[in-house]
Amino acid sequence: MDVPYQYAGPEIPRGCLASKHTFAGISAAGSDTAHTRCHARRMDATSRNPRNHSHAAGQVFCGIIPPHLLDHLSRAESSTISGRARRTLEHDALQRTRRRLTTVRGLAAPAEARAGSDKPQRTIYDAEHTETLPGTKVRGESDPAGQDASVNRAFAGLGHTFDLYSKIYSRRSIDGMGLPLDATVHYGREYGNAFWDGERMVFGDGDGELFLDFTTSVDVIGHELTHGVTQYTANLEYLGQSGALNESVSDVFGSLIKQYSLQQSAEQADWLIGDGLLGPDVDKGTALRSMKAPGTAYDDDVLGKDPQPATMDGYVNTSQDNGGVHINSGIPNHAFYLAAVALGGNAWERAGQIWYDVLTGDGLAKDAQFADFARLTIDAAKARYGDQGEEHQALLKAWSQVGVTNNQGQ
Ligand SMILES: [Zn+2]
Repeated sequence: MDVPYQYAGPEIPRGCLASKHTFAGISAAGSDTAHTRCHARRMDATSRNPRNHSHAAGQVFCGIIPPHLLDHLSRAESSTISGRARRTLEHDALQRTRRRLTTVRGLAAPAEARAGSDKPQRTIYDAEHTETLPGTKVRGESDPAGQDASVNRAFAGLGHTFDLYSKIYSRRSIDGMGLPLDATVHYGREYGNAFWDGERMVFGDGDGELFLDFTTSVDVIGHELTHGVTQYTANLEYLGQSGALNESVSDVFGSLIKQYSLQQSAEQADWLIGDGLLGPDVDKGTALRSMKAPGTAYDDDVLGKDPQPATMDGYVNTSQDNGGVHINSGIPNHAFYLAAVALGGNAWERAGQIWYDVLTGDGLAKDAQFADFARLTIDAAKARYGDQGEEHQALLKAWSQVGVTNNQGQ
């Protein structure tokens, strides 16, 4: 059967005529309900300043296992595999709905939690295989490591994320204001995903066959928490190219958090997202995505083939996955990789700084397209390092190699 599994929950509205989103695959005939919802969403988005810390949460719900992969698994011959994938899809659809209805309570963190905000304020909870959040508190910031490896990895991963943003970019936690970082481990039974729900990181244990414990990859933790950083800064709309940029920014900083934690240079880094996450039943796969070689992370009987393009020639027009946000992100991911490797040394220093300048600067619109983002990074490289610098040249070349701009940056 080749009919995509239908989510139980609502999806991003399609075809709102007032919307600027014009990528192919989204029909122009939206329902009245979708139209109303789209306007409500846009009004909500424009009635707040993304750099004002009193705003409500954006609508991003990103599980690290993207819908296109879960959809593929939901059609697996094995009823065990398809059943688990369907349960994860249904769960994630409900979470998406919830994200639209709630605000970020963490914004009202007490003053004392923010007083020492050059240090992380971490709290880890254990859901004990329920779906009740946050669960039971098992480790606070001053507590020593315990016996539970998931708890310890989550604690360390939050710390690595805090450290990159704090020590390299002088950003105090994901909101820039010392937001306490909470995480829940052992969420659900065999739950095959991890996500940032606007308030905390949540990790499933995986099924142990296709997916292992989701605290395993520090870049996954960095990816999810960076959705929080984007939510508090550029607030890129989670649809089409701006959605793929939102995803790509999370992969870029997720990978940089891993590289920084291991003190790896651009040449030494694996440039993978989710290395170590795939279980013993995956025969041909190393990770969920590759920034070095998008489209090569897996090619497996059960998982299918990694659908990411590396250049605009392979751009995928689709109405699934919010317009392919986890698919076309391969293109800006690869541009970052090319620029970082051309510059050499530590990727978080120059290439990462340029991306951070764009993400947190004033020029990035919520509905930015790839070419807008490319131009902003080229401008940021000039502003920080000069127009005769190798940084400027490396970016012109990288964006042209992936087909987003020509070699003049246009
Ligand atoms: Zn994501």
